[in-house]
Amino acid sequence: MPNNIDAPPPRALYISREVAVQIAKQADAHPNEEVCGLLAGNTQNITQVFPIANDAPVKSSSFQMNAAELLRVLKQIDLSENDIIATYHSHPNGKLIVSKQDITALGQNWPHVCHVVVGRQAGALLMKAWTIQNQDISSVPILVDKRKVRFDDPQRLSKAQQVAIILAAVITIMILIALAVTLLPPPPDLTNPFR
Ligand SMILES: [Zn+2]
Repeated sequence: MPNNIDAPPPRALYISREVAVQIAKQADAHPNEEVCGLLAGNTQNITQVFPIANDAPVKSSSFQMNAAELLRVLKQIDLSENDIIATYHSHPNGKLIVSKQDITALGQNWPHVCHVVVGRQAGALLMKAWTIQNQDISSVPILVDKRKVRFDDPQRLSKAQQVAIILAAVITIMILIALAVTLLPPPPDLTNPFR
């Protein structure tokens, strides 16, 4: 089933854990280079990963899918009756925001699919998905194994961190109140009304 390039890109990406693991392994094999490829399946489930060699002259900060491999993969996806749902590539610096170059190249060539940017951080796979249409860039949620297991929010705090921050704020407020009380002038002496 060929992609309908007039259709809007998906609003959420459903990735299986196996797919996420395969992308992580590919990124780990080239930690200092951008790795890239295509993700295929249907809008409810991405089941196939197709790694494609990066042909960019400067692989540490850009990617360009090898043309021959890309053609071969496109044929394979077509034969499997799956759709291309997303492109993916890694950012060795761990930043999950699409670069200016990404916006130009992906927006021109792949406006009808999503774009997953991945990074590795302390063993975790970070992922963020984007759509790029007419210079309009939006992020798209990623679900792994249809659960709200989110890999795409590196700023997310753990429960313990959230509790620590709230506690710190409460303690600060208590100290401020204590200071305010001690700084108040002494209460007027009301025992002598004729003073
Ligand atoms: Zn990029």
